[in-house]
Amino acid sequence: MKKEKDCIFCRIVKGEIPPGKGKIKESDNFLAFLDLNPHAEGHTLIIPKKHFVTILDIPNTLAPELLKIIKDVASELMDKKLGDGFNVIQNNLEVAGQVVMHAHFHIIPRKDNDGLRFLVREN
Ligand code: 5GP
Ligand code: ZN
Repeated sequence: MKKEKDCIFCRIVKGEIPPGKGKIKESDNFLAFLDLNPHAEGHTLIIPKKHFVTILDIPNTLAPELLKIIKDVASELMDKKLGDGFNVIQNNLEVAGQVVMHAHFHIIPRKDNDGLRFLVREN
């Protein structure tokens, strides 16, 4: 598992590399920015500023602030009409599809017939 100093999201938090198309929102302990390889326009990632690997590592005390930034980002995407609904997706560890080993929440705007399918069993 990658150490913090090699972590791409920690480097974004430190300002060593740009997040991509720009920072969206920030709170004391979280940062939100657009996904580099979006599933839909407005696909946003929310990350803790500290290096936690999975949701299990995020302290419970940060839960209200986390819920608030998730709701703020999702509301803004809906206000901008980027989606008629949205998914909040959070992958934990490789077997569940986590590629970047710094905990993050995907906020993905959804539209009717957008062709996106998540967690579909293939047989
Ligand atoms: P995971 O599969 O780990 O849940 O998703 C990681 C997400 O991070 C992917 O959707 C990928 O496109 C995004 N990502 C990886 N590297 C970068 C980066 O350097 N900048 C941004 N903005 N997104 C990234
Ligand atoms: Zn990190």
